[in-house]
Amino acid sequence: MKLLITRPMTAEVAARARREFDVEIRESTLPLSPEEKQRALTEFDVVVPTLGDLFSAEVFAAVPKIRCRLLANFGVGYNHIDVQAALAAGVQVSNTPGAVTDATADVAMTLILMTARRAGEGERLVRAGAWEGWHPTQMLGTHVTGKTVGIVGMGRIGQAIARRCHFGFGMDVAYVARSEKSLAFPAVRAGDLESLAAQVDFLVVAVPGGPETQHLINTPVLTAMQPSAILINIARGEVVDEAALIAALEGDGIAGAGLDVYEFEPRVPARLVGLENVTLLPHLGTATEEVRSSMGHIALGNVAAFVAGQNLPNPVN
Ligand code: NAP
Repeated sequence: MKLLITRPMTAEVAARARREFDVEIRESTLPLSPEEKQRALTEFDVVVPTLGDLFSAEVFAAVPKIRCRLLANFGVGYNHIDVQAALAAGVQVSNTPGAVTDATADVAMTLILMTARRAGEGERLVRAGAWEGWHPTQMLGTHVTGKTVGIVGMGRIGQAIARRCHFGFGMDVAYVARSEKSLAFPAVRAGDLESLAAQVDFLVVAVPGGPETQHLINTPVLTAMQPSAILINIARGEVVDEAALIAALEGDGIAGAGLDVYEFEPRVPARLVGLENVTLLPHLGTATEEVRSSMGHIALGNVAAFVAGQNLPNPVN
């Protein structure tokens, strides 16, 4: 059984992979090239791909004899894999849910606080040596405690954000999801996304990426938001129409945005970079040593189950 891991892993995950499997761990931190994807599907039995490794229907169709039987994705989001095309080609897909939830929710809170309290702007001021000292009307931001948060996609991460907002910051929680949720904190399910957008101070995007949610946050949603409201996106860049977001920010349609992900990442539009009222993070959601190791262990757990002929712990279908 030959395993390919498409990016460097944390030391403990790499050590376990080498101990348990006949593994090749790619050294590049960039996504697989088309040639590398072909090789992955023809020369390996299992591949651990991740964000950026686009396994579209065309990629599977271009390989006449696929050897690979499992794509054990490193990450909970798998919108870079056409799961139906994979299954049709006899390739199972798994992911790494759970391990990422708290870390990603923490980054959502980081973005809420940084954007509302103008922390990025303040940091830049201090570093530029331009701070002239405290005064009663210096850099006034938006109060967070007690405000209303709207969660778009009340899944694992959405609920972890809502819990933090409710228990930590005394916020009212409203949400949209495809199904009614039974939650351990008070939360109101809004009728639709635009009415949710209209009633909240912070609109936080936590849905999976993919064709169904592409540009879910569009001009009508941004227009429905209050001019004092802030948009947060920790989900996937393409869920937000970035051009519409820039227009809303430049036109004072909304007060700010906190972004961990971008529509064409790692490209971040210069117009976005030029705005002071946005917080821009480089997709840090799960970026801690512990979490990246947990994700690696979950991915390898799926590989181990596959090799042993057992059911995958985290199948995606
Ligand atoms: P999850 O548990 O599957 O939750 C997703 C939620 O979105 C579910 O509640 C689902 O509703 C809802 N949803 C799906 N499509 C929707 C739509 N069209 N309209 C409204 N709600 C919709 O997933 P998760 O673990 O919370 O992860 C969510 C996403 O976060 C991942 O897919 C990934 O892309 C992203 N993520 C980002 C980072 C980062 O580094 N920034 C880290 C981890 C994850 P139902 O429950 O009714 O089906």
